[in-house]
Amino acid sequence: MCVFCKIINNEIPSYTIYENDYVKCFLDISQATKGHTLIVPKKHVENVFALDSIEASEVMKAAVVVANLLKTKLKVENINLLNNSGSLAGQTVMHFHLHVLPRYGCDEIDFHQVEHEPNFVELDKLYKSLIN
Ligand code: AMP
Ligand code: ZN
Repeated sequence: MCVFCKIINNEIPSYTIYENDYVKCFLDISQATKGHTLIVPKKHVENVFALDSIEASEVMKAAVVVANLLKTKLKVENINLLNNSGSLAGQTVMHFHLHVLPRYGCDEIDFHQVEHEPNFVELDKLYKSLIN
């Protein structure tokens, strides 16, 4: 059984701040920033590709609840919602989870991508390959 399933079954402890029939939301053990929380569906699904529409909507609904809880209690004004699906994307626990990551002016996290000129030939090819 995976570590998040054990947390969901209360076999190992967690700092759960919100829970309902579909999700459990607990503090990440390694706080990337203060208030860093994980939204975890109670059903074991590996990654974004395996989420059904009910779980997906319950995860996002819970993220809104948790974001507002952090806003109220920690005076958080800035948040990233982040999911890593697949090991190349940085997933280390193979049970889907959405990171709720409060951002503060002084943190050292940087998600900015390199900006470059748009290539409309490539965009056009890509678009056609996706819609056909
Ligand atoms: P990811 O790299 O997206 O798979 O994130 C996995 C996250 O799970 C990391 O941020 C870990 O710190 C966190 N984590 C691992 N074990 C636990 C645990 N027992 N309780 C809370 N968070 C955990
Ligand atoms: Zn699991």
